Amino acid sequence: MVKDSPKPPKPSNPSVSIWAAQCGKCLKWRMISTQEEFEEIRSKFIEEPFFCNKKPNVSCDDPADIEYDSSRTWVIDKPNTPKTPNGFKRNMTLRRDYSKMDIYYVTPTGKRVRSSTELATFLQQNPEFSDLSVSDFSFTSPKVMDDTIPSSDVLANSNKKAATSNTK
Ligand SMILES: [Zn+2]
Repeated sequence: MVKDSPKPPKPSNPSVSIWAAQCGKCLKWRMISTQEEFEEIRSKFIEEPFFCNKKPNVSCDDPADIEYDSSRTWVIDKPNTPKTPNGFKRNMTLRRDYSKMDIYYVTPTGKRVRSSTELATFLQQNPEFSDLSVSDFSFTSPKVMDDTIPSSDVLANSNKKAATSNTK
């Protein structure tokens, strides 16, 4: 999803390029094609775990779409993070030192919002979004998986990221 966005003038921090969910039965990882679909799965992951057969023509007998390994850096999102409200976009960028992912929302008016406080102010100032509340948003960072952080000599080449909805 990152590849299609217009590039900002200065190099941006790495963002998510692949979405994946882990099957609750066979534990294989399945790629999820869009952020929206991924957020839908993630938003109710505890009540409705993900299984291979949620993808068309896929079963647990098929090989995994993607392996959890250090060929890319993995970040694991918290299950049941709310689905991004219509018109908003939730973006995540990884700090260059791999310490943390920073979350921000882009509002339908094009404003970047980086915290619950900023968001509360935005909602107050924009009564057209009065049906939304701060709890429809989450600024909780996904966990950057230490064992998939590249060693320093491959840092320059590490712009591939995956987000997942594993429960760990
Ligand atoms: Zn499976």
